[in-house]
Amino acid sequence: MGNVKVHVITEKCKGCGACVTHCPTGAILLYTDKTNRKVIVIRTETCIGCGECIPFCRYGALIFKGE
Ligand code: SF4
Ligand code: SF4
Repeated sequence: MGNVKVHVITEKCKGCGACVTHCPTGAILLYTDKTNRKVIVIRTETCIGCGECIPFCRYGALIFKGE
């Protein structure tokens, strides 16, 4: 399909939220998991693969993943 999306490496995500406000489509959601740890989830149906979020992550938690 050549459908490139951004994925989060959950173990690297610090839940800082820096990426969230920079997503033009609102595809990134910040939530608190059951261990009270803040992490993000990327809604792949909403992500357009623009990559704008990637440079805002200082922890290298956002990566491109194609199909
Ligand atoms: S690649 Fe673009 S659309 Fe997808 S989560 Fe990042 S900023 Fe949002
Ligand atoms: S910028 Fe990186 S560490 Fe911060 S919430 Fe987004 S993915 Fe997680």
